[in-house]
Amino acid sequence: MNVPRAGQGIAAVRPKVGVFGLTGCAGDQLQILNCEEVLLRLAERLDIVDWVMARSENDAVCRLDIAFVEGVVATERDLEALRTIRARSAYLVAIGTCAVLGGLPAMRNDLSREVLQREVYHQEVPFLDSVEAHAAADFVPFDAKLPGCPIERHELLQTINALLAGTRAELPTMPVCWECKAKENLCRVVRFGEVCCGAMTRAGCGARCPSHNVPCAGCRGPVEEPWWDANVTMLKGQGISGKEIADRMRRFSAPAWMTLNLEKEAGHAQR
Ligand code: SF4
Ligand code: SF4
Repeated sequence: MNVPRAGQGIAAVRPKVGVFGLTGCAGDQLQILNCEEVLLRLAERLDIVDWVMARSENDAVCRLDIAFVEGVVATERDLEALRTIRARSAYLVAIGTCAVLGGLPAMRNDLSREVLQREVYHQEVPFLDSVEAHAAADFVPFDAKLPGCPIERHELLQTINALLAGTRAELPTMPVCWECKAKENLCRVVRFGEVCCGAMTRAGCGARCPSHNVPCAGCRGPVEEPWWDANVTMLKGQGISGKEIADRMRRFSAPAWMTLNLEKEAGHAQR
């Protein structure tokens, strides 16, 4: 992994940048486009040379100073593309929960391909070449990872500034509840008996969902120590069933929740 040395940013006056999407919804690329007036300033500072979504002519082989990748690896083509991007890039940044943790597409790994084909297409479809969906970060080393569905613009800009300056962006490590309490929202669990993942989910979104009266679905992935046992006990204390809790936890970044030794607790939570 490339670790910029303090004070030594990328040497190029206008670093060459590529933006790429593997299997996914392209929401993180759209989020970059949504930077609007900041995007124009970024374009002055960065030389965006390879971005199929935004440019009609691209340099698909040059060396890149920074590459951004969104999406999961769900096909052999995805994996080949990801390895090629890694090989041509000095710094590789994963954008979005799919690339960082597997995201929504990884939910389907529990179901066989036959079941999925039958449910979605009602027939066999030979053109489908997808395999299991896994986070891009499971296959090659990344130099920075931005969670979120989609990413937060301020975290993207913070990361770009840090790379240019030769430092690391400090992203929040506390849970969404911290931001939610700071906004003095009414708690969706305590006041409304809803399954809210805020206590186990990484902050950074400004508690967007609870601030709009919607419980957090955990889209930014788990904090380092989710205190799953305590949270399940707290949620059950509000009359919420174990199945409701486990279903909500699995929706986003399902493999991450499961690999944090939560399988056992998830099993308990089914009851
Ligand atoms: S509403 Fe959700 S995020 Fe806000 S304090 Fe309650 S559990 Fe935490
Ligand atoms: S509140 Fe939860 S689901 Fe909503 S944006 Fe934040 S992390 Fe994602």
